[in-house]
Amino acid sequence: MSAWGPGEFEAFTKARLAEAEAAARDLLRTAQNVSLELKDPALLGRHMPGWHSWPEVEAVCAGRLADIAAMRAILDLHAPNSVSGTGRACAYCGHLWPCAEVSAVVSVWSDHQAYRGPREQH
Ligand SMILES: [Zn+2]
Repeated sequence: MSAWGPGEFEAFTKARLAEAEAAARDLLRTAQNVSLELKDPALLGRHMPGWHSWPEVEAVCAGRLADIAAMRAILDLHAPNSVSGTGRACAYCGHLWPCAEVSAVVSVWSDHQAYRGPREQH
């Protein structure tokens, strides 16, 4: 596992958040469309396998979007400050960047093929 190149950690994080948001929005749109179709009077009284699951899918997607917003808020709060002699520091907690909070958020993608381990602090 090679180290992160300049800007790669930030680009990786941004890409994973964008992918996660797009996937949640796509599934939410599908769930909303299915829910609308199921309200069609032509379907009244028919047995539709799994019909009751779609509101749960919508709720899970909404929760996922809230998770992603919270992750972005944490990453924005714990952004790196400008480069100093010893490397960047977290603008919020003052620890070397990425601080423990940023590393914890990004670790959710540790099984992604482009993940290269916790970013080295230097
Ligand atoms: Zn921090």
